[in-house]
Amino acid sequence: MSVSVIIKWGGQEYSISSLSEEDTVMDLKQSIKTLTGVLPERQKLLGLKVKGKPAEDEVKLGSLKLKPNTKIMMMGTREESLEEVLAPPPENDDVVNDFDIEEEVIEVENREENLAKIARRVKDYKVEEMNPPREGKGLLVLDVDYTLFDHKSCAETGQELMRPYLHEFLTSAYEDYDIVIWSATSMKWIDAKMKVKPLGVIWGKYGEFYNRKNTIMFDDIGRNFLMNPQNGLKIRPFMKAHLNREKDRELYKLAQYLKEIAKLDDFSGLNHKHWERYLSKRQHH
Ligand code: MG
Repeated sequence: MSVSVIIKWGGQEYSISSLSEEDTVMDLKQSIKTLTGVLPERQKLLGLKVKGKPAEDEVKLGSLKLKPNTKIMMMGTREESLEEVLAPPPENDDVVNDFDIEEEVIEVENREENLAKIARRVKDYKVEEMNPPREGKGLLVLDVDYTLFDHKSCAETGQELMRPYLHEFLTSAYEDYDIVIWSATSMKWIDAKMKVKPLGVIWGKYGEFYNRKNTIMFDDIGRNFLMNPQNGLKIRPFMKAHLNREKDRELYKLAQYLKEIAKLDDFSGLNHKHWERYLSKRQHH
């Protein structure tokens, strides 16, 4: 038996009649995506319920007993505009003129849709809290891949791929900062197209502790700072662990930088791009 529905979205109606009772809610969402461009995970279908609860993706359409041409209201936004702003990623971050990025950044940072999205995540996202926030500490947000570990190289043990001074770095940083590990894999909750790490999510959740004045974020990919350029420090990627283990001192030096800036009440006057210069000035005086 075929199933026909009419999707109402953005003031328009889209008729879908290509599905059967054996197809699932996810199949329906895929069809809707083809018509509207809204990704399945961003779609909310109103009125598709099983025992009073929104139907899960794997539920078969046949079990919903929909009347032919049932109208279903869809809520959800297309990612296109966001995608346009963020993509294509520069092939090589270093070649891109920083000024170009900064202009783009301001736009992305303030885009209302992004702010709305963040507000939603603040509500929905569950942070896995190992330790409660500590009064008076700053916030250090760390990327994992190529920042703390070389996850691509082959090795016998994880130890070999660990960036030198990692333990010393974390121990030292924890004296002044609460630490959040924000890896790409823990970001499934954010749309796959939105490959940035908006600190607003954390600030919204832990506003009484962390804000743009006491937060710093390390990542080897500059684009991840698009939403919060001022708070980002682009760390040199740690790759080819077996070759670089002996000479990589990035975390060693960054621990000192963190110590140094922890003395400030407000990081917003800093340009983390020049962290090495800042550090060497302080250390020579
Ligand atoms: Mg990385």
